[in-house]
Amino acid sequence: MTDNAALDAAWAIDWLRRSAAVVAENRVHLIELDRAIGDGDHGENLDRGFSAILEKLDAELPATPGAAFKLAAMTLMSKVGGAAGPLYGTAYLRAATAVGDAATLDSATLATALAAARDGVVARGKAAVGDKTMIDAWTPAVDAAASAAADGAGPVAVLAAAATAAEAGAVSTDPLVAHKGRASYLGERAIGHRDPGAVSSAMILRAAAQAAEASS
Ligand code: ADP
Ligand code: MG
Repeated sequence: MTDNAALDAAWAIDWLRRSAAVVAENRVHLIELDRAIGDGDHGENLDRGFSAILEKLDAELPATPGAAFKLAAMTLMSKVGGAAGPLYGTAYLRAATAVGDAATLDSATLATALAAARDGVVARGKAAVGDKTMIDAWTPAVDAAASAAADGAGPVAVLAAAATAAEAGAVSTDPLVAHKGRASYLGERAIGHRDPGAVSSAMILRAAAQAAEASS
């Protein structure tokens, strides 16, 4: 494929596998971030969910990107407790609905799917930018993807822009007081800590970009 080629089911599957790998590698890091301003289970929650996704992929490979997203959604919703399971599950489910049964995703569709995923997290969790949640990673990522797609960038560049914006968004949570989730119980004591869900979101979006890069 060239840099501008649309992304297919193999990309989506590779994205999920790379997400599982990065979550497993950062399990302890995510636990430590959540221990500082939550209950210390974020790394464990996500690792359990993505390990279950890997098992499902070993049994059967989805035929379309949408089917891969739906598999991820169903697995995360059923295997991951806490706030993050339903939130990530909703994100993948909305992305699946946005792409339908398309065999490949172009830049515009990717940007739309990311926006749908973010909108699902907002619909479920009611967080806005600045509330020190995963939305602080997702919303800049969605905006960067939309503007890259509008500028004519290919899927690899769209996802790279989203991942870079999400990483900056995760860093931007450091000085914030939390207004949603467990960290909101801490008031000003949350200041100086990075939101674990924003960090895991940035990791997962970087995995999407790396999978796209590898397929191009
Ligand atoms: P729990 O908080 O139930 O222990 P996790 O530790 O797995 O669940 O996930 C915590 C992360 O979930 C937070 O770091 C934050 O990014 C995200 N989160 C929590 N509540 C919300 C919300 N209402 N909207 C968006 N994200 C949220
Ligand atoms: Mg937690």
